Amino acid sequence: MTSAWTEPAPVTVRVPAKVNLELLVGPPREDGYHPLSTVYQAVGIYDEITVRPADTWSVTVTGPFADLVPADDTNLALRAARLLGGDAVDAAPVAVSIYKRIPVAGGMAGGSADAAGALVACDALWNLGLHKEELEEIAVELGSDVPFLITGGTAMGSGRGELLAPVLAHGTFHWVFALSDTGLSTPAVYAECDRLRGDAPVAMPAPKPEMMAALRSGDAHALAAVLENDLQEAAFSLRPDLGGVLAEGLGLGALGGIVSGSGPTIAFLVEDKEAGIDLAVSLTASGLCPDVRRASGPVHGAHVLHGSRSS
Ligand code: ATP
Repeated sequence: MTSAWTEPAPVTVRVPAKVNLELLVGPPREDGYHPLSTVYQAVGIYDEITVRPADTWSVTVTGPFADLVPADDTNLALRAARLLGGDAVDAAPVAVSIYKRIPVAGGMAGGSADAAGALVACDALWNLGLHKEELEEIAVELGSDVPFLITGGTAMGSGRGELLAPVLAHGTFHWVFALSDTGLSTPAVYAECDRLRGDAPVAMPAPKPEMMAALRSGDAHALAAVLENDLQEAAFSLRPDLGGVLAEGLGLGALGGIVSGSGPTIAFLVEDKEAGIDLAVSLTASGLCPDVRRASGPVHGAHVLHGSRSS
């Protein structure tokens, strides 16, 4: 008698990077975290996460930034798979493969994206059928940005950035990202922000109505005028060269520019796709940044590309 059971086919999930359109940082809490008021946008630079049944838990990384990512138990995608496997189903091990296109330690939440991708992929592989809200609850344990990378689109984040609320946003925005060849540590940038603030009183952060109006309008000029990042000064303090990159992009015609998250990637907002191509070519020619990427947003959060055969 033959068995009807077949091993589930591998599942591949595509997961985007993010940029913070607004990142307002409050005074450090007792637990060390900073209260945030942020507006995330998911942008079309993608990692791909594949999970397949295996005898032991493992992770492998390929792609342009593979060398910078730990291929051990500290890898966030592997941690996510193990967490969901333990929490939800006492699952058999999986081998996780990451194709890495999101810059590492670049302020675009690449590690968080891989964790979000692994949760969505394992949910599909193991046929758990968890709701987005249930996955987001587990995601918080892995990092403040992880729930947003499941949701995608444009959303407000409060708390540590993990408490999401929808934002009414129209249109598509075109971005050019100036990458760096060395990363910035997120905790180091927060520490520098605190150091620069010294004893000055810091207000609790709250979303700005101007940002909400710009997103509702769908007008790139309006959005460019209200981009704001409280970590920018700290990132520039640690990496003085970034100020030159920002000035260069603005001089070359970007509508606006901002440090992405904790940096060092600089995100430039442009009028349309053609303006993005022009800016990318000029920035590359300037020799000020080693790598330039174009992407538009908002895009969907983590989503399955190839479903499990058993689903
Ligand atoms: P954020 O914008 O969330 O502050 P980031 O984009 O600046 O983060 P990440 O790319 O997430 O930074 O990488 C931060 C560190 O996390 C890396 O230096 C790396 O050692 C570690 N890490 C663990 N797993 C991964 C992963 N799957 N991808 C990238 N980095 C990972």
